[in-house]
Amino acid sequence: MFRILLISAWIATSGLSAQADSSYHRTLTLMGCRFDLTVVAEDAEAGERYLDMAVGEISRIEGLISSWDPASQTSEINRRAGERAVVVDPELYDLIRRSVGISTLTDGAFDITYASMDKVWHFDGSMTELPPPDTIAASVSRVGYRRMQFDDDAHSIFLPEAGMKIGFGAIGKGYAADRARALLEAEGVKAGIINASGDLTAWGKQPDGKDWLVAITNPLNKAKAFAWLPVDNRAVVTSGDYEKFVTFNGIRYAHIIDPRTGYPATGIVSATVFAPKAELADALATSIFVMGPEIGIDFIDQLPGVDVIIVDAGNQVHSSSGIDLQNFTQHD
Ligand code: ADP
Ligand code: MG
Repeated sequence: MFRILLISAWIATSGLSAQADSSYHRTLTLMGCRFDLTVVAEDAEAGERYLDMAVGEISRIEGLISSWDPASQTSEINRRAGERAVVVDPELYDLIRRSVGISTLTDGAFDITYASMDKVWHFDGSMTELPPPDTIAASVSRVGYRRMQFDDDAHSIFLPEAGMKIGFGAIGKGYAADRARALLEAEGVKAGIINASGDLTAWGKQPDGKDWLVAITNPLNKAKAFAWLPVDNRAVVTSGDYEKFVTFNGIRYAHIIDPRTGYPATGIVSATVFAPKAELADALATSIFVMGPEIGIDFIDQLPGVDVIIVDAGNQVHSSSGIDLQNFTQHD
């Protein structure tokens, strides 16, 4: 019995390397989650400077998209729901536009207006029974990306009903990772990994010229990876339910909610998506939970350059056609 969890990018730098470059690391909490940052640089001073830049960029994005920070533009959009449109920075406007694009792509499995359902479901162990059906129905009534109103010229967003809310819980970490990477690449950093609790993007090679490797482990035995995957200029993102879920009548409900029914997704324990950008991978990993394994694999097989490994609630592994799991497992 095993499940898949992407815990970390494993860095194996060779002490014998003749190259001057080394990798520098920092671990810290940002956006309410653990970030592990790695950069390759010529010396410690440059390495630390690049790490500072990445931290600054992620913090900046947190200030834009956090729904907990009352000062963020996102909170202002939510506060003004049912009242008026809010003008936001082009960056936030574009992120919201792309989020809605992913909703269209996933037929509503992914929806940044899911947030009003968060009041109904709690995945911290405090729930003792399923919420009443009318409470669930009421929460869904305020969900729906199609109802958001956009003004492309003014960069304004309007949520037409009081109580409607947007939230970036399923895409924000990926976006932040992409932006931190883009900033460092623009600064000339040749290689690195931005890892937001298993949502990661990696570019370039290790100082010894080898690919970065990502460990896929059994969460019951995290010390031993059962597969090592090379990541070269790709993002790898895992959505998992092992920390946040509730069980009622033997059914395990994940912290990802189907915006169309108001009920949490069931049937998947983890979904690991490989895509060019972490933002897309993050949103798709969440969507796969809602779609379930069969539709999820079918869906991913239609997207060029995107792959997925799914572990279902029965511990069966499913993978999209671009993944050769047999080969990967031989790596360990
Ligand atoms: P993780 O936090 O495990 O990396 P995800 O990236 O899949 O997980 O994001 C899950 C979070 O996204 C939830 O905690 C919630 O805040 C939000 N969310 C839940 N369901 C949806 C959905 N259908 N569409 C968009 N966001 C969602
Ligand atoms: Mg996600």
